[in-house]
Amino acid sequence: MPAMGNPRLHDVLADVEPGTVVVFDLDATLLWSGPRHLKIAQDFGAFRAGAARAVANLSAEDFGYEADAALRAAGLKDKRLLREFKAFWGQKYFTSKYCLLDLPQPGAVDFVHAVEERGARVVYLTGRDEPKMGEGTRRSLAQHAFPLGRRTTLLLKPRPRMGDTEWKQEALPQVEALGRVVATFENEPRNANLFARRFPEATNVLMETVCSPGAEAALPQLVRTADFVI
Ligand SMILES: [Mg+2]
Repeated sequence: MPAMGNPRLHDVLADVEPGTVVVFDLDATLLWSGPRHLKIAQDFGAFRAGAARAVANLSAEDFGYEADAALRAAGLKDKRLLREFKAFWGQKYFTSKYCLLDLPQPGAVDFVHAVEERGARVVYLTGRDEPKMGEGTRRSLAQHAFPLGRRTTLLLKPRPRMGDTEWKQEALPQVEALGRVVATFENEPRNANLFARRFPEATNVLMETVCSPGAEAALPQLVRTADFVI
């Protein structure tokens, strides 16, 4: 699908001024993890011959939220191998090494720069955790030239076992202490709803990329976009 953007992204930039805050989630919001999924599948196929043929048919675009679904669709039917892959994936996916493979969503780098250049504080509020993914996350943002200076704040989960929404809720007072929140960007409806309730005056954007299965219904006031193209 071609990048479409959303005219409301211009409204967000119009609301940005010094003293304001814009909150960005990372996974499936600013970053696309298809290449990370693909590399994990390729590494699995490299030592499990039974999975090699299915893996060879895959591209990064084939991966949605659940990586094993892509392998099944590519022809891997062996339940034992699929279980083994899921465990392998779980060990690799949430790591600094593999998250370096993520790529920016269309328009994301320019949009975050536009927010920062207008004087807002950029807050990256992610469900990634500091112990396993902190180093890789900072390197990933730097290698794609996302803003990472004195007007940015990166908030990672301090403890890996916290739930994502629990963590984001807990972090909100820290976010509010940084300034007036004028916009939030998030792909999980549950988190986007949390922001919409906490910041009713802000533009709260739901990224229409992927989200967890069985996600709660998105509130009607959320603005929807699939990318950051303006
Ligand atoms: Mg996300």
